[in-house]
Amino acid sequence: MTFDLASRLAARRAEHLYRQRPLLQTPQGPDVMVDGERLLAFSSNDYLGLANHPEVIAAMQQGAAKWGVGGGASHLVIGHVTPHHELEEALADFTGRPRALLFSTGYMANLAAVTALVGQGDTVLEDRLNHASLLDAGLLSGARFSRYLHNDAGSLGKRLDKAVGNTLVVTDGVFSMDGDLADLPAICAEARQRDAWVMVDDAHGFGPLGAAGGGVVEHFGLGIDEVPVLVGTLGKAFGTAGAFVAGSEALIETLIQFARPYIYTTSQPPAVACATLKSLELLRRENWRREHLNRLIARFRQGAAEIGLSLMDSPTPIQPILVGSSERALKLSAVLRERGLLVGAIRPPTVPAGSARLRVTFSAAHSEAQVERLLDILAECWNRLAEEPETDA
Ligand SMILES: *Cc1c(COP(=O)(O)O)cnc(C)c1O
Repeated sequence: MTFDLASRLAARRAEHLYRQRPLLQTPQGPDVMVDGERLLAFSSNDYLGLANHPEVIAAMQQGAAKWGVGGGASHLVIGHVTPHHELEEALADFTGRPRALLFSTGYMANLAAVTALVGQGDTVLEDRLNHASLLDAGLLSGARFSRYLHNDAGSLGKRLDKAVGNTLVVTDGVFSMDGDLADLPAICAEARQRDAWVMVDDAHGFGPLGAAGGGVVEHFGLGIDEVPVLVGTLGKAFGTAGAFVAGSEALIETLIQFARPYIYTTSQPPAVACATLKSLELLRRENWRREHLNRLIARFRQGAAEIGLSLMDSPTPIQPILVGSSERALKLSAVLRERGLLVGAIRPPTVPAGSARLRVTFSAAHSEAQVERLLDILAECWNRLAEEPETDA
């Protein structure tokens, strides 16, 4: 019989890889109701606490009152509305680039940029820990596709030596499951020697990183010459939805002309762009959010080291605790939940086999007391888990 879905699903369960969606019954924030339980959450990507900000909500309400709800058509037909255009201009200013192009999701922005820039006869080189959307984009492009060792400019260099055609080097700015930064100075230097272009997807860097929230490129002081293709997403620190690609006039016009994931889809609701204009303003202006967040991160790392947790080399709000097997990660996540904490277990294939982890994330909306509570409960649960033997491979 074809399509034996039941046994596929059963196998998934047996491997401790079955996914379930927690049902969120309140807005994003530290204190949430999930599946009927009140929990303290350390699992969203709303790093600056803007997803439920009153001014952002008001901007969206006013936007809907003024512009209606639906985008109505694709950007090239009659769906490119004034707030979309204003947001593109504001994002170009924010990133210090000639232009920016708005997308409905980061997944689509990545598919669009990679497939518009490389195709058959070209080469795309990606960090092996890149976000799934970037890997999918590389495969879809039809270019020769190769993954280099994580953050390893030497491994990239060897592949650049064999590259053919237009060559695009693609990396996350902040690795979404590890929280570490791409070694962009080294990666850009390798690419430049071989006339390759660098594309950075900084979904998790915009907002938390850089003095004004300009992300990993601001952090390293890199411009359009080093990173010609810069992608940001709006559903994380911006607290809204959508994504953008920022770059030269020619890059943006190329995407408008040739990128199918841009052309063949309805524009995002204009009110969402109104909300993002407001959240961009808050993100740029309210430095206290970044400062508070950095204090929480530093306190967590210090406390976690005292407990003996294995953290990763992350200066960002993504602070994974390495656990190992999927079963143990699920167990730790479950005992934390019994104590009122929501922290997601991240398992293969999202992360490499044997590196299942709890992905703790912080937000400027968390208080110091909430971080202390997390550390107290982690200390108890970690010690309990350490006493239990591993039962799976
Ligand atoms: C979340 C994420 C995306 C996808 O963005 P969406 O707007 O959620 O589709 C792309 N790249 C990275 C690195 C991400 O973390």
